[in-house]
Amino acid sequence: VCICALLERQYDVRLAGVATEDRPAGRVPLSELNTDLETLAEFGGGVAGITRVAWSDALDSANRWLMHRGRGVGLDVSTDPAGNVFVGRPGSGTQGVLLGSHVDTVPNGGRYDGALGVLGALHAMRALGDDVAKRAGRIAVAAFMDEEGTRFGTDLFGSRAFVGDDLTELAGRVDREGVTLTEAMAERGYAFAELGGAAAVTEYGCYLELHIEQGPVLEEAGADVGIVTAIVGLLGLQVEMTGEANHAGTTPMHLRRDALAGGARAIGELRDLALAEAGITANVGTILVEPGGKNVVPGVCRFTVDVRAANPEAFAQLDHRVRTILLRIAGEEGLTVNVEELYRLEPLTFDAGLVDVVEASAMDETTACMRLPSGAGHDAMVVGRHIPTAMVFVPSRGGISHSPFEYTEPAHCDLGARVLARTIGRVLA
Ligand SMILES: [Zn+2]
Repeated sequence: VCICALLERQYDVRLAGVATEDRPAGRVPLSELNTDLETLAEFGGGVAGITRVAWSDALDSANRWLMHRGRGVGLDVSTDPAGNVFVGRPGSGTQGVLLGSHVDTVPNGGRYDGALGVLGALHAMRALGDDVAKRAGRIAVAAFMDEEGTRFGTDLFGSRAFVGDDLTELAGRVDREGVTLTEAMAERGYAFAELGGAAAVTEYGCYLELHIEQGPVLEEAGADVGIVTAIVGLLGLQVEMTGEANHAGTTPMHLRRDALAGGARAIGELRDLALAEAGITANVGTILVEPGGKNVVPGVCRFTVDVRAANPEAFAQLDHRVRTILLRIAGEEGLTVNVEELYRLEPLTFDAGLVDVVEASAMDETTACMRLPSGAGHDAMVVGRHIPTAMVFVPSRGGISHSPFEYTEPAHCDLGARVLARTIGRVLA
């Protein structure tokens, strides 16, 4: 999930470069999974990346192809009132195995984010022996609707409906063309009022999600598989420091109340805080200065702070620690400071038993695996608050994601699917 979307709800179309790919095509024949990834990439694909935002024609076509593909390999397909697509084997009971991810993308996104999780799970399911599949009872891969949330600011929409969250307040959300979410759904034959019918998490006993890392940690460590232990908690703050706008030449330095000088110190100290402790990130991603003139002492400085930690205790302290830094600097610089919370998502620690199973399954395939937390949000962070959940990561070249330059080696895509298949086998053993 692009959390910046919560702040700006804007399409990011700055990346207009033509995607270059140096895949080893022509020498090694691609596996069925990798050919499927290439096929799926054609829906909404263009020179500047793939665009399949929620409820769009491109996403609709991609979903239809996915269902066609599922039927083609002998699996059942269905959709729910939230636009989630399920491909799998129906069964009874409440202990089914759910796999999943999403096939929507950010504007000008890549071909692996989400897509690998859905198609990798489809192929993992095919790889299961019939006896294993039967033991699963119900087993399915979910392609959750609108994980990215770029069109309506409705991140994780499908998985939230699936776990039964009340999404009523999202009905009137408007995209850039003035279309409401309710209208966009109606255009595809879905009624917003019927969303409650999507709640079905209780039919499953666990959830597994394969995903590209979207960061550089695995590549840096030379690891082929990541065993995800947790998803970071996020705290977003809007900060406003206020001093006094004045003449840049006539106001003596020691008499200035320079809001930007305070903001600059805060940026540095927040970075130092996160640099000093493993497991914490801090980011100032937007800054605005008023009145804004080369010969004017800045009177107001507004900036956003995004801090994250996977450890629940560390996350619980972050708000206080950030505010303490801001208040001290404001005091020292003669400024007032106002802090407003923009978003807060608690960290999620994955099910320890299931994480162990993923690790054992990864070790069967490669010794080059490592545990790590996820710094990005995923559908697993929604489903994982209801049923035991774990995730498998495979490396992203250069750590690049949400970009046409997103790339994961075909061998790593296949490896991720195999780890998923082994994990299902162990869960059902
Ligand atoms: Zn994703």
